[in-house]
Amino acid sequence: MKRIYLDHAATTPLDGRVFEKMSPYFMDVYGNANSQHSFGRDAQKAVDQARDQIARLIGAKPGEIYFTSGGTESDNWALKGVVKAHKNKGNHVIISKIEHAAMLSTARELEKDGVEVSYIDVDEQGFIDLDQLKKAIRPTTVLISCMYANNEIGTIEPIEEIVKIAKEHGILVHTDAVQAMGAIDVNVSALGVDLLSFSAHKFNGPKGIGALYIKNGIPMDRLISGGHQERTRRGGTTNVPGVVGFAEALRLTKENMQKDNEYVASLRDRFVQRVTAEIPFVKLNGARDMAKRLPSNADFSFEYIEGESILFSLDMDGIAVSSGSACSSGSLEPSHVLLAIGLSEEIAHGTIRFSFGKENTVEEVDYVVDTLKATIRRLREMSPLFNLKGEIKDV
Ligand code: PLP
Repeated sequence: MKRIYLDHAATTPLDGRVFEKMSPYFMDVYGNANSQHSFGRDAQKAVDQARDQIARLIGAKPGEIYFTSGGTESDNWALKGVVKAHKNKGNHVIISKIEHAAMLSTARELEKDGVEVSYIDVDEQGFIDLDQLKKAIRPTTVLISCMYANNEIGTIEPIEEIVKIAKEHGILVHTDAVQAMGAIDVNVSALGVDLLSFSAHKFNGPKGIGALYIKNGIPMDRLISGGHQERTRRGGTTNVPGVVGFAEALRLTKENMQKDNEYVASLRDRFVQRVTAEIPFVKLNGARDMAKRLPSNADFSFEYIEGESILFSLDMDGIAVSSGSACSSGSLEPSHVLLAIGLSEEIAHGTIRFSFGKENTVEEVDYVVDTLKATIRRLREMSPLFNLKGEIKDV
């Protein structure tokens, strides 16, 4: 059976060119980048080059890039590191209600330790409420954090405006750019943020490697204690192949960004257009203006059915998508993002995220729409909710 992968927001396939760049660093150049002999120096050279390249590609200085194990660690570090290092100034942070769990659960942990957190609403398209954000600012606010683009509904947040507001009050800004980095030409200097999280596996790089950009001069506590790696700010032996692959993946992504985005968006637009026209009782979640949505993202709620049923049925047909419930974590709670944009629990439960990638084809899109139509029809025929409404006609 042919398999079709439409879950690029979860992770992306490794680019073959990235794999080639990485491969000497597993068995040939295997030294510890912190060792003082030639084996170590060879590894360190590769790490330095990768750091320089990543910094240049995002408008940072090399000394502002700190390698981590990925987006989750970068988010944890940004929040905990700033809060701990700014205890003298205050203990209040502001984040959006639709942050990734890496931010939200860190914020909840900090609340248990007495840190005060304001969670800012978003509108029905997922855009942060800037007025509420302004009103939430206190003299004790040390950090505002808002994701650059949402992982579920693809909405791109107005980070420049958030930076403007924060700077008027001398408050630091962090953005989780894990989803944005592969789709937007992120430049930290132009954006004006103080901290930015990103992760290689979301743009055809390896898993388990990411970075936190920390603007020079920002006081930060460590998250991971240990040796003197990463200018003594993050302990742990450097993942040399990962770092090399990360830099190459970012280079390729930036080089081909416009062309790839246009192609991926054309697949997504075809999908959205066909689903909207051919399947009744559906709602596209996220930004209506496609320019303010990740090019890969189409997030649909299908009324009267459970997202899990759609997901498992499509999976049996070889199609990989993601549902709006945190099923993978063993809970069937509806997504906090979908509730935050005002969906009822029932509609949130019937939500599926389709996220496209550059290796997908038009034929795949058409096959998925055809399969989806049949799946939705079959599931609705079985749905007591749907039958009760007697709306089983032209599905
Ligand atoms: N932040 C966002 C917005 C994400 O989408 C993800 C991954 O799904 C993460 C953080 C976590 O990144 P990682 O998988 O590299 O830990």
